[in-house]
Amino acid sequence: MTRIDELLAAGVTTSFEFFPPKTDAGDARLREALKELEPLEPSYVSVTYGAGGGTRERTHRLVVDILRETSMTPMAHLTAVSHTRDELAGLLARYRDAGVENILALRGDPPQADEGEGFWELPLAIELVELAKDVGGEQFSVGVAAHPEGHPLAESLADDRRNLAAKLEVADFAVTQFFFQAEDYLAMMEDLDRLGCTKPVVAGVMPVTNVRQIQRFAELSGAAFPRWLSDRLLEVEDDPEEVRRIGVDVATRMCQQLLEAGAPGLHFYTLNRSTATREIHANLDLPAPAATE
Ligand code: FAD
Repeated sequence: MTRIDELLAAGVTTSFEFFPPKTDAGDARLREALKELEPLEPSYVSVTYGAGGGTRERTHRLVVDILRETSMTPMAHLTAVSHTRDELAGLLARYRDAGVENILALRGDPPQADEGEGFWELPLAIELVELAKDVGGEQFSVGVAAHPEGHPLAESLADDRRNLAAKLEVADFAVTQFFFQAEDYLAMMEDLDRLGCTKPVVAGVMPVTNVRQIQRFAELSGAAFPRWLSDRLLEVEDDPEEVRRIGVDVATRMCQQLLEAGAPGLHFYTLNRSTATREIHANLDLPAPAATE
């Protein structure tokens, strides 16, 4: 069993997210992190999809390498930005033919200035979900992104919730943007419940190991980096060990709250490093992973 919807139906999942490195040194660091995280038996691992052509090919290669060379189940992120519908269908067919079963279907953001102008033939992620279902049929389990604090471009939070519920009617599950307060996730789940949506939504967790870096990510993603947390971390900014210790402690407590509240899975944004994720994982009393065939 390696379809994520089936893994989620069997019990709480843990998963790790990686990005395809651009350099040999980055690649070596990623391979090391993969080796160190594999013994934790994650339910699945995911690989992000970037804006540039070279990076995009690297996502495919890394996903297929993980499938063939490790015991872990990969999920490929795919974004609709700057691809024609035919190109997207072709990419999905390559994953299908390589035996990949899990796709995270995303709209993608406009490219940065040095990456050329972006365009969308499929301007909403829901259309990519539908295409993935067409191409992959029963082989694919298709996930989507959820934004607990609302997507930055949404007309309103209520609109965003309705759009998410509609997207989840066709998709199998969602994974959230990272957030730092369990209440944000729980409020979203209540809204989805009121809208009649019962699909699993996996909680995205970003262990803070570098204050300035996470502040930047939070600004880009629209996730609020709470004042109490940034103040606490900035006080010890010059002591990386202490920053990491606090980051691990805060993330552990949030994960415990999420599990107690019934979150179906935890998804760790690893930034291609293993230490903080391994520490949080060790602190949690996680159930054994569902058996795979
Ligand atoms: P959509 O679901 O299409 O939503 C985009 C906006 O449109 C929202 O504001 C939504 O409310 C609105 N909307 C939806 N439906 C309608 C409708 N019918 N009418 C009007 N408005 C509507 N980016 C990458 O480039 N590569 C990655 O690998 C990547 N991985 C990610 C993984 C996760 C878990 C998450 C949470 C995000 C990831 N992203 C990634 C970022 C993502 O591409 C951006 O957040 C993007 O801006 C939105 O993508 P989406 O799939 O949520 O879009």
